[in-house]
Amino acid sequence: MQGATSGRTSTPDIAGQITHAMRLMGIAPIPRNYELYYEAYLGSNAQLSKDLAALGSRATQEELDAIGARYFSHIHHPHGIERAHSTLTAKLAELVSLLKEEQSALESYNRVLDEAYVNMTSKSAASADILRHAIGLLSDATADTMNQGKERVQTVVQKSFEMEVIRQELDEYKRIANTDSLTRLGNRRAFDESLAAVYNNEHLRRFTGLLVADIDHFKKINDTFGHPVGDKILATVGNVIRANIRRDAFVARTGGEEFAVILGDSSQEECLQAADRIRTVLASTPFKNSRTGVNYGPITLSVGVCMATAADDPLDLYNKADIALYAAKNSGRNRTVLFEEGMRKDSGRNWLIYRR
Ligand code: GH3
Ligand code: MG
Ligand code: MG
Repeated sequence: MQGATSGRTSTPDIAGQITHAMRLMGIAPIPRNYELYYEAYLGSNAQLSKDLAALGSRATQEELDAIGARYFSHIHHPHGIERAHSTLTAKLAELVSLLKEEQSALESYNRVLDEAYVNMTSKSAASADILRHAIGLLSDATADTMNQGKERVQTVVQKSFEMEVIRQELDEYKRIANTDSLTRLGNRRAFDESLAAVYNNEHLRRFTGLLVADIDHFKKINDTFGHPVGDKILATVGNVIRANIRRDAFVARTGGEEFAVILGDSSQEECLQAADRIRTVLASTPFKNSRTGVNYGPITLSVGVCMATAADDPLDLYNKADIALYAAKNSGRNRTVLFEEGMRKDSGRNWLIYRR
């Protein structure tokens, strides 16, 4: 597990910890700065952590933005999203003023109708001239209103189309911001959101399980075959997990070589079976380089499982699944362990101490 995990276990208020540290360093408490320090806290990008540390305790906003642009160009350079937002706002304002014009055109048309009605029903309405005049006014006003109406409908259709394009652009930004670029799975941010959602809905909470999986001895893979091979293996592991779990399950790479699955509508038994299916399929997946013949496998996973009902909140659930994961590591790896009350991690290097 990452170094961050131990911090997470001992101090539940991650956001408080991060903002406190930012305050001490005089860093402006704005979302894009938080984003940087949050990633550094997770420790999933060693180079980013190193770059931030190199800035010392009084980093300028320019220096922070330069790091942000380097590692999160998609979300950190706020221009794209801001541009889309302001265009969307402008289009909405145009649409509203168009609808107001439509309203005032209809109001004046209504006035003309009223006047015509008064003329036609007045005592002298019998006069053919007045009647002809009133009808002439009416038909002009009707034609004008219809023409203007047609033009406005066309403009509204055009504007709606433009707004739809921008909405899609915003959706795309959101998708990128929630996706892990290596595996195309959800990233830690998306995972945190999905896990929080479980506790916002009583039905979800009652039938959801969390699976936390960590590749066994992955450091050895990197050391033996190099980081690029490690990256390819991570991507394949992500594919195997995705392909062997229900389509509606949420799957994320939560950091380094750790993955998580949020499985809804499932009993404890079903969650354990799902975890074991992923684990056994992966263990028998060939990892052979067809060009060189080198065999990188077998690649195995240890999995910790905890049901949402066994935890008080998202953080508690994650910690408990993590404790079960460490139990799986400690009892030999390449296995699935369910969290049980009394299990805990010790603070030293050993994975687990049982208190029975
Ligand atoms: P364990 O079975 O106890 O989990 O052993 P491990 O070697 O998998 O665990 P450890 O936490 O010691 O090492 C994890 C390694 O994962 C260290 C790091 O080099 C590697 N790693 C983390 N993120 C990435 C990544 O994005 N790409 C690659 N290639 N390796 C990564
Ligand atoms: Mg790990
Ligand atoms: Mg590992």
